[in-house]
Amino acid sequence: MDPALEKLIRLHDLEKMEEEISSEEYMKIISKLRQEEDEEELKKMRDEALEAIRREKEKIIKELNKINPTYYNRYRMFKNAYGHGIAQVVEGICLNCFSRVPTSFITQHGKLLRCPNCGIFLYVPKGKKTEGERL
Ligand SMILES: [Zn+2]
Repeated sequence: MDPALEKLIRLHDLEKMEEEISSEEYMKIISKLRQEEDEEELKKMRDEALEAIRREKEKIIKELNKINPTYYNRYRMFKNAYGHGIAQVVEGICLNCFSRVPTSFITQHGKLLRCPNCGIFLYVPKGKKTEGERL
């Protein structure tokens, strides 16, 4: 897999988790799950998890910038515009703008692509997913 693509996907996943676990909704779910913990304790644990995410993100961004600083700049730009910096191609459709991508894209597993319509970073996930393999 393209090393920049791998890092962009990890960054995307971490930011999604960061947003999810920061929400009040999530705190309600998790406090039900972990009944023994009081709310303050749970918040402390969440903050630690968020800190870990931040450190991991910093590491990934550094690595990305070593490859080429434009990757992270573009990722941020897309994220600000669309709420996410990278999207999947599913059945030949860009999941960011819903337009059809060129058919030549469909076999480009593991490559970092750009949507010709909206410009966002795109990737084609592998068709057959096996347990423990996400891409
Ligand atoms: Zn698009």
